[in-house]
Amino acid sequence: MTKEFSAQRLDVKAFAQAGGRLAGHDSLLKYERLAQEAKGLHPDLLVDWEATGEVRTALGGMGQVWLHIMVRASFPMECQRCLTPVDVPLEVDREFRFVADEATAEALDDESEEDLLALSREFDLHELIEDELLMALPVVPKHDECPTSMPLASSDDDFEEANAEKPNPFAALAALRKDAKD
Ligand SMILES: [Zn+2]
Repeated sequence: MTKEFSAQRLDVKAFAQAGGRLAGHDSLLKYERLAQEAKGLHPDLLVDWEATGEVRTALGGMGQVWLHIMVRASFPMECQRCLTPVDVPLEVDREFRFVADEATAEALDDESEEDLLALSREFDLHELIEDELLMALPVVPKHDECPTSMPLASSDDDFEEANAEKPNPFAALAALRKDAKD
């Protein structure tokens, strides 16, 4: 019989022993702290995640409880270069080793390169996913390539004329760049 696992009240050890797998396709709106950071929320933003549990045998034959999470989301922010909306792709791929309790996790944390968490029978996977996504947010979100700025639309004839007379500095620059490339 397979045991049902709950993402919000996960028995981590049992999950690992069962080689469990949980996955979700959640609305971003379910992650309240994360949603507060978004610029321009819309309801079809999704957080895709998958968590797998595993018991690994360490040196000495001790079983270690591991949890692997993979998360993908597209997160709306404001580009700090052009100040227009940018959907930032977020990706998390991390493994955690679970130890007996918080005290053990803290004690081992300095000497261990592993990410340690305290075992729980009611572990909140949802919260872990949200924490990881919050940490994955870029401090300075930017487009890889900002959308090219449209020339200012104007029906003003003087403006049109002025533009026609003076060479557009950006066009001149583009020409220079082109020459440099050639
Ligand atoms: Zn931009």
